[in-house]
Amino acid sequence: MRQRIRLLIVVGTLMIAALSTSAFFRASTHAITQNAQRREAHALWAHPPDAGGSVESVRQFVEQCKRANIDTIVMLVKGMSGETYWPSRRFPQTVVKGYESFDMFGTLIREAHSQNIKVDAWLCDFVDGAEGAAYREHPEWAQINSGGATTASETLGTQKRPYPYVWMCPARRPGYTDQWLLPMIEEIAANYDVDSIHHDYVRYPGDVAPDSYCFCDYCLKQIPPYAMLNYEARPAERYRVTPAQERIEANWWSDPTMIPANWQERDRREMADYLLNGRTIPGGPPDLRYFFYNYRVHQIDTFVREAWERLARVNQRKGSQIGVSAAIFKNPIQSGRFIGQQWDEWTPWISVFMPMTYRSHFAGGFDAYLDHLTETTARQMEWVRHEKPLYAGIATTYLFREEWQPIDDLRDRADELKMLPTTDAAAREAKLKAVVAGYEVLRSRLAKVSPDRERELSRTMAAVKTGATSAAVDELLRLVAQLRRDPPPGYFPAEKLTRSIEAARKANPDGIVIFVAGSLTREKLWPTLEAAFKQ
Ligand SMILES: [Zn+2]
Repeated sequence: MRQRIRLLIVVGTLMIAALSTSAFFRASTHAITQNAQRREAHALWAHPPDAGGSVESVRQFVEQCKRANIDTIVMLVKGMSGETYWPSRRFPQTVVKGYESFDMFGTLIREAHSQNIKVDAWLCDFVDGAEGAAYREHPEWAQINSGGATTASETLGTQKRPYPYVWMCPARRPGYTDQWLLPMIEEIAANYDVDSIHHDYVRYPGDVAPDSYCFCDYCLKQIPPYAMLNYEARPAERYRVTPAQERIEANWWSDPTMIPANWQERDRREMADYLLNGRTIPGGPPDLRYFFYNYRVHQIDTFVREAWERLARVNQRKGSQIGVSAAIFKNPIQSGRFIGQQWDEWTPWISVFMPMTYRSHFAGGFDAYLDHLTETTARQMEWVRHEKPLYAGIATTYLFREEWQPIDDLRDRADELKMLPTTDAAAREAKLKAVVAGYEVLRSRLAKVSPDRERELSRTMAAVKTGATSAAVDELLRLVAQLRRDPPPGYFPAEKLTRSIEAARKANPDGIVIFVAGSLTREKLWPTLEAAFKQ
């Protein structure tokens, strides 16, 4: 009885705390009681090199995860270029060299399960390589824009860096989805004692040209009937808007034909332009793109549902309970519009949501991020109506924007100095000043944690300053590259990770998922994670 009263007091205090903050944190007594009894789950995204190429290295990696109290390892098995990391029998042409002989994934599952750790198979779903096997064998499966080009024709950033990925059309049948991706998922589930399939890039491309795909022949044919923008019966009959109501949009139900009569004579660019910029009602707003966005959301929804259904069949055959987890963007309403990823609709087909609530997806400073992380995580749980578990996703690297920036700036300025012709004295002098200024920022930070490396860099800087010979600049670049690869312990303030985990916890998520194992190693953050995830 006393215990029960104490619990009620705790619940009551939590309620008051919850109610006195903003509306996002209002939760039912039921949810709070549940949270008070629930154990926080811990997951970690990892890449194949983290596990290494031998049974022993896999075992060491699992032991490291065990020490950090990780209970799910999300291991990459299909990368962004379409390459795979299990000895696939059905898609041997995609397997990365070395992984056909050593079954890293199977070994990981065995070792992890012996430590009571789950393993999810992480697939980059709809992104594939410009040199990948899927695109090489089936160029017709690629998404194309109104100009008829794939995403590999796009560029990144103002420097117009090449974009090496080809996104595949989620809609086309038969196509990439039903002939390649779903069979891959089925093969993994059938042959491995995996705990979940993990969707990533389960969407349309968003970092380049969100509104430009897909206008392949299949999609151009499918979008009008998907939204019934015209009738296939009696195609010659056209219906105009009947202006019975004063407000023009109020006449939508007079059943106007939205696809023009000369549709078939239009080329790809004209059709795409109409679907994006046309009007459902002449005189109304240019709103036809609503159906384009809706079509894209529907295609991704359909794939997520089909993956779940195929796994259900495998589970029935094997007597297994393979689930589905997903890496998703922070806001399903906005990602529905921009990348077709309206994940609040996926609760029937997802076992665990892992939103990538990374600092890189927010504007503002570090302290602002902590507030946004709490608020966004709470909102995400509301978006899925608390129907399925949700783990707050934190990427360590982006927490350290202030610490990485001086290293990157120094590297970039030194690179630019190296490229300047020796005859251009004025430009070299100005660039040298920028290099020196860049170094001063880095120096003060470095001196505190690694005086030896600070002295080594300072000596090289002195040589750069006096002559700026190419040998001195090369040596500087070498030291900066080394610093990037292997920064000294303590260079990254560990409390940034601890404070981020605490900020996520304020929203009471079902778990925390960290991106990514390799960064923890490089940034020397494993001990910090061990302390933060201690039971
Ligand atoms: Zn398409």
